[in-house]
Amino acid sequence: MTFAATVLTLYPEMFPGPLGISLAGRALAEGTWSLDAVQIRDFATDKHRTVDDTPAGGGAGMVLKVDVLARAIDHARGLRPDCPVLAMTPRGKPLSQARVRELAAGPGVTVLCGRFEGFDERIFEGRDVEEVSVGDIVLSGGEPAALMLLDACIRLLPGVMGAASSGTEESFENGLLEYPHYTRPNEWEGRTIPEVLRSGDHAKIAAWREQRASDDTRLRRPDLWGRHTGARVQSASGARRETKE
Ligand code: SAH
Repeated sequence: MTFAATVLTLYPEMFPGPLGISLAGRALAEGTWSLDAVQIRDFATDKHRTVDDTPAGGGAGMVLKVDVLARAIDHARGLRPDCPVLAMTPRGKPLSQARVRELAAGPGVTVLCGRFEGFDERIFEGRDVEEVSVGDIVLSGGEPAALMLLDACIRLLPGVMGAASSGTEESFENGLLEYPHYTRPNEWEGRTIPEVLRSGDHAKIAAWREQRASDDTRLRRPDLWGRHTGARVQSASGARRETKE
């Protein structure tokens, strides 16, 4: 079954971009996934093909027009009625590996890419669109965010990565960061590979990896650690809260 990616964008020439190379590129060529990059501007109706307008209430920048977005989404839903529609926005729910797994197991995804100040807010409820963020950063457009989302899905499709992608040890798969990796040479600029990894003792190696995954998550990502353990963690505001969902 082909995973159908539809991207609604003002810059269709950005696709497949990096997804045309390496594993994702080969999978695209083999038909494991398909890509349809749709020009949002084609759904503008005036003679200037206007897609944006000034923000209500004033302020800087331009806002993508809701009627144009709606026509673009309706077009995509007509082609792929079974695919969820996701809009890339820093105001959205942070993308997670769990959501990526769900999406990758489905028929595909339709991704709406913003530009300028973003979307007219009415589109999300008006067309049942899921708002997704790829992190607490601001990009100049939704296209790199869409590439991230698609890359994360595509590597999970059957046959794309072989055995590695089914591994449950990777970062976030069990709520933890993955343990660190090393490879030859054993000594590099005076730094050696941890002895245990060369011991050949598989039980000891597994225990060491488990310990490092826990320690590193606790130290680097107290947010993940808090969720993983269900512990009470200190929030940024200093208030104590329950983090277990
Ligand atoms: N004014 C908006 C930012 C607009 S950035 C705000 O402050 O919330 C322009 C476009 O880039 C957005 O519409 C969105 O599609 C994309 N974008 C920027 N940062 C993003 C992020 N962290 N995650 C997903 N998409 C993002």
